[in-house]
Amino acid sequence: MNVAIYSQLLGSLHQPLLETLFGALSRHKASIWLHPLFAPVFNLWQQNGGYSFSNINTSGAMPSNLDFIIIIGGDGSFLKAISEFEYLHVPFVGINTGRLGFLADISPDNIDTAIDALAAGRFVVEQRPLLELQPKIDEIKHPFALNEITVHKCDSSSMIVIHAYIDDKYLASYWADGLIIATPTGSTAYSMSAGGPILSPSSQNIIITPIASHNLTVRPLVIPDYSTIKIKIESRELNYMLSLDSTSVALHNPTEIEIRKSAHNISVIKLDGHGFFSTLRNKLMWGADRRN
Ligand code: NAP
Repeated sequence: MNVAIYSQLLGSLHQPLLETLFGALSRHKASIWLHPLFAPVFNLWQQNGGYSFSNINTSGAMPSNLDFIIIIGGDGSFLKAISEFEYLHVPFVGINTGRLGFLADISPDNIDTAIDALAAGRFVVEQRPLLELQPKIDEIKHPFALNEITVHKCDSSSMIVIHAYIDDKYLASYWADGLIIATPTGSTAYSMSAGGPILSPSSQNIIITPIASHNLTVRPLVIPDYSTIKIKIESRELNYMLSLDSTSVALHNPTEIEIRKSAHNISVIKLDGHGFFSTLRNKLMWGADRRN
């Protein structure tokens, strides 16, 4: 088994997690490549703890024969990792040290079982579409989003006006705080907070969800994922924010951007009991009712 491990900084609380994870991977004789962000953290931890795990590459280039990319962190780390491993069709799996863990859904208590399942091939791989931004913007290194692309007002209390077109046909002008263009994966993230619908990950759709639109007749809209969405932004303050998942940049008026489904998917590993509907019930309390 060849794995890569990505994590942002870990604290002392996470030391037992690392011991369990590297112990389980060693038992399966895994070859492990550490992302450059994580390698120094690992080296320090191994040195301070007196561990000597073998088969670990902390300096070389990323191998081409990876079976899995393991992310340690919350959903925020999961989103960041995807931008670090662009174009790589290796399945991602997340161990949740974060708060919610909707994407990174393996609990630290289940690491041993999870690594056994990975080694034995007891999992399914879900394909998750990405959104792609055009044209290329200098400040954005990775123009893809797993959750959503959002335009948002910046630095002021004034609304922005977002003129939206679908496949070059005029849809509406939103006078709002912002507009979220979300994937089915992103339907349980920001779009949900703004009143958008929840889509199952295999739905072939894109969601357009306004943020605080000052209009009684505007609602979130679901469109086919082969659509191209064109957006023109007007702001009295002459600037606005553009976000792709957790990366945000400030841009200036007037700007026109296009958003469409990318040709690249991300592969996400789902272990037994981690299907979308059980995650909805367990993490978002879907259907919670004191009578059940
Ligand atoms: P954050 O604001 O620190 O955390 C966002 C929250 O959303 C975290 O609890 C995160 O889970 C959860 N989350 C992320 N992706 C999810 C998904 N696909 N389904 C369900 N929950 C999800 O920001 P961040 O950690 O950098 O994550 C960036 C994301 O935050 C953006 O893509 C956007 O969707 C979301 N966001 C939400 C709002 C809002 O709801 N008002 C505002 C701005 C951004 P963990 O706790 O496991 O990290």
